[in-house]
Amino acid sequence: MSSKVRHFAKKALYAAWQPELPRDVQLRVGMVVHTERVYDKEIFALTQRFARELQERLSVRAILTVMTGANARVRGGMARHSCSDAMLSDRLHSLNEFADIGLHGHYWMDPDLFWIREQSQSRFVSHSPELALTTNNFALAPFETQFLADLEWIDRWNVPFRKIYSAGWWFLNENVIAALLKHGFVFDFSVSWAPWFRNQYTHDAVVRNLLQPGQPFRLSSDKNHINCVPTLTGCGTADTAADLGRILRAQLGASRDVTGALCIHDYDRNYDGCLAWLEYAAESLRASLWSLESLESPGILDRVPEFDLSTF
Ligand SMILES: [Zn+2]
Repeated sequence: MSSKVRHFAKKALYAAWQPELPRDVQLRVGMVVHTERVYDKEIFALTQRFARELQERLSVRAILTVMTGANARVRGGMARHSCSDAMLSDRLHSLNEFADIGLHGHYWMDPDLFWIREQSQSRFVSHSPELALTTNNFALAPFETQFLADLEWIDRWNVPFRKIYSAGWWFLNENVIAALLKHGFVFDFSVSWAPWFRNQYTHDAVVRNLLQPGQPFRLSSDKNHINCVPTLTGCGTADTAADLGRILRAQLGASRDVTGALCIHDYDRNYDGCLAWLEYAAESLRASLWSLESLESPGILDRVPEFDLSTF
């Protein structure tokens, strides 16, 4: 079906049927931007405008989880766009006026061969080939080296950084969480019940630990803990606001207490679609909208289930 035909079919559907959530669902939604290409001044300007509008129109501070200048793919982009490390850091500082900055991790077996990832569409989880996720060439030592390089870059360039993480390609496992805990990260947005964003580790863990779709939880190791707030779905291609209601109805099942994020890539260039979804969530799905500050304050995450990482 072409996107135009799909759009009109949806208009007809939603004229006849409003995909509401059950009255007793308590929905809380925030915004996480997977920020990969603000070395491109056009994407930087779009992202800056979105963060400002989100704050002005909906009083929400976006969370921008960013790829750093230590990343091989980002360095290639910085060279193409003549963006120095200092310039990238300056842009993150100015984005921090309207958003909170965290880390978005993309890691490779061999970072010098990062481009191979772009060409190897093989981890297939979607019915739609263009949505296919691809293989994570993933091993512990290269991951740790690249993760530390990200943190060093953040330190060296004095990025206004909060200990927030979202996984590139949704790749999360025990080693990644252990590294986050060791380095004091306190929020993660990598777990998802959406079919496009799951992987074997999170799928197994949420099923085995009887977590409900859209349910945040806390993981601990020694004295550290990290709050895992799910990503509900992505708005990279959002065109019709009521789609959000339909997607969440399907995903949430019997869940009644739901706290999660919407996500988008900066390069999706669909921030208007995101704003429309968030407005729809607040108005038609009776969602309260959160920012990092509200997750940090007593309240929303007070009574989430807690697990030790070693037995999760
Ligand atoms: Zn990414």
